[in-house]
Amino acid sequence: MSSPSPSPYPHLLAPLDLGFTTLRNRVLMGSMHTGLEDKVRDFPRLAAYFAERASGGVGLMVTGGFAPNVEGWLTPFGSRMASSGAARSHKILTDSVHHAGGKIALQILHAGRYGYSPFSVAPSRIKSPITPFTPRALSDGGIERQIKCFVRAGKLARDAGYDGVEVMGSEGYFINQFLSLATNKRDDRWGGAYENRMRLPVEIVSRMREAVGKDFIIIYRLSMLDLVPEGQSWDEVVMLAKGIEKAGATIINTGIGWHESRVPTIATSVPRGAFAWVTKKMKAEVSIPLVTTNRINTPEVGEQIIADGCADMVSMARPLLADPEFVNKAAANRAADINTCIGCNQACLDHVFQQKVASCLVNPRACHETEMVFTKAVTKKRIAVVGAGPAGLACSTELASRGYDVELFDSASEIGGQFNMAKQIPGKEEFHETLRYFSRRIEATGVKLTLNRRVSADDLNGFDEVVVATGVTPRDPKIPGQDGPNVLSYIDVLLHQKPVGKRVAVIGAGGIGFDVSEFLVDDHSPAMDLDAWKREWGVGDPTTSRGGLVKPDVSPPARQVYLLQRKSTQPGKGLGKTTGWIHRAALKKKKVEMLAGANYDAIDARGLHVSFGEKREGATLLEVDTIVLCAGQVPLRDLVAPLEAAGVKTHLIGGAFEAGELDAKRAIDQGTRLALSI
Ligand code: FAD
Ligand code: NAP
Ligand code: SF4
Repeated sequence: MSSPSPSPYPHLLAPLDLGFTTLRNRVLMGSMHTGLEDKVRDFPRLAAYFAERASGGVGLMVTGGFAPNVEGWLTPFGSRMASSGAARSHKILTDSVHHAGGKIALQILHAGRYGYSPFSVAPSRIKSPITPFTPRALSDGGIERQIKCFVRAGKLARDAGYDGVEVMGSEGYFINQFLSLATNKRDDRWGGAYENRMRLPVEIVSRMREAVGKDFIIIYRLSMLDLVPEGQSWDEVVMLAKGIEKAGATIINTGIGWHESRVPTIATSVPRGAFAWVTKKMKAEVSIPLVTTNRINTPEVGEQIIADGCADMVSMARPLLADPEFVNKAAANRAADINTCIGCNQACLDHVFQQKVASCLVNPRACHETEMVFTKAVTKKRIAVVGAGPAGLACSTELASRGYDVELFDSASEIGGQFNMAKQIPGKEEFHETLRYFSRRIEATGVKLTLNRRVSADDLNGFDEVVVATGVTPRDPKIPGQDGPNVLSYIDVLLHQKPVGKRVAVIGAGGIGFDVSEFLVDDHSPAMDLDAWKREWGVGDPTTSRGGLVKPDVSPPARQVYLLQRKSTQPGKGLGKTTGWIHRAALKKKKVEMLAGANYDAIDARGLHVSFGEKREGATLLEVDTIVLCAGQVPLRDLVAPLEAAGVKTHLIGGAFEAGELDAKRAIDQGTRLALSI
């Protein structure tokens, strides 16, 4: 008999014995609000979402946050676990997960002063910089009431069939607000000395343990690096961890940064596994299992982190939105087939902040499992897809997996369309992963790919249907002098790598203008160097600096860049809700000058002549060597008219359909939905 092949990720996939129960591996699906938690009528959808991930092999999942009471609401009428009726309504979730062989914990999240609600409460009456409501300072009795509500939520979670709870003690929420001197100005037994400030979480965990019994998982999410001024010192964090262990927690999960921190913690530009070192520092201090988190998105990274002794488990939240089969694929040695989370936040966090249901840019089925149902094709069809950008890739591979005979054409020498420019941007290296994933999907689904072939309508005779996914072409801004040798398009810079001078004006401050500016100020030293990244953003050792904050040490820009737009609004206003501030801050650090309300009067050999506002005031010459045009894009769809004239059934998707507000999220979603509907 042959011996079983060794596990490809022996540390990551090893079971974890918690004494009273065993987790099947070391992957925790971290808490993510999906927008399906607030209304019971959405629970069947939420159940399908969790069940798919439980079937995908994850060791333990944590729900989005549920408030223990009204004062803890994140938003008015938001998700709450405060009554036996609420517990009963959760049965559909826990049953679906258990039926699929998984385990699930309920996250109890009290928003404190981060509550978007007039009922919010906090240790002290101090408004947060990211919410409009000033919280009410709690009395001693009020604090006791909050503890009782936490404990009640724990018991109700058990009644609802959960395997455990996660007590949210990080990211600057209610519990975390007690721990920092910036938000806790009390002088009673809940404030002042750290022993007092940490009383709240320790009381919550110890009383909850007593109430729920020994055989129930209590995860405590502990802020190990606050990343805010007056954050906790490392000694304090360790004291808290020991107190939480003693109080009866089963597992400690790592929290990094508060929501108001000005250091990016999960965006794509944060190096992979950037904060595992923080959890590793804690390993020597406590003996219960520790979970580490943030920007862990491949099985290799997870395996390495555990093998290096940084943690006992890794938390991956968004990577399981991107691919519910992540763990099963890793276990089957098929890591190359994983649809990797690229850390863009565009369909997950950005949606949640806009009160929309979360999804995933690379996997539009996430949170739409009951609606985007995969079915096998019932008739045979030959379908041509023209354009192998995100839209065409998603559409062709989904069509082929349904059983259609699909041919995919692109005039370029590689698949990916504009993603081949996006992946050149420093901090967007993850975009390579999406192209790797689609290459594998093309192979696996049997799409017939033809590259280096510009297709005309005549080439498409004989196909039953044609999908036009030809994308976009740059808009012509019609600036006098733009044909000069000192003017380049973003395509010249990013794809053709044309030389750019030391002083540059970038015309257009949309997503591409920002990205091109980041490309131009960067010195292109090895990507994702963690130490360099920490220096640039001021992340230091919490043993020597409170909250892990130090003065940023920014390397000088490679070029002097001016970034201009015609609108008078703040440049970058239209960028992603949760990432726009990072792009603006990154360019500010590199001394990029942002000029709004610009009129582009002319370009000549000396540079760009601009004036400002309707009255064309402040006319000046920006003496620059190169001008880069990033003035938006228009659809490229010249195939459509001849195809329709020839009577071919034609579909339009992605940028070819609509260039305004185009992004890869819309392109992939549209391509996938079309493929499911043919
Ligand atoms: P495209 O990606 O433009 O693909 C169209 C394809 O069609 C091309 O490969 C082209 O060669 C091919 N083609 C055209 N005509 C023919 C023909 N006649 N025959 C054969 N082939 C043809 N989006 C995000 O969501 N997030 C980001 O962070 C992001 N960053 C970006 C950064 C940069 C620098 C750039 C340039 C874009 C970025 N985008 C980002 C935008 C995103 O890449 C586009 O929205 C997306 O690629 C559009 O997809 P598409 O498939 O519609 O078109
Ligand atoms: P965009 O975001 O629409 O920005 C176009 C820019 O060009 C704007 O600053 C606009 O500002 C300017 N402009 C428009 N018409 C002009 C004209 N006639 N003359 C001069 N300037 C003009 O488009 P984009 O930057 O080309 O990006 C394309 C898409 O890719 C975007 O929709 C975006 O979603 C996506 N993308 C996303 C990211 C991301 O990080 N999420 C990154 C890159 C790209 P004024 O009109 O004020 O001058
Ligand atoms: Fe990851 Fe982007 Fe998908 Fe969010 S939307 S899960 S960040 S790939």
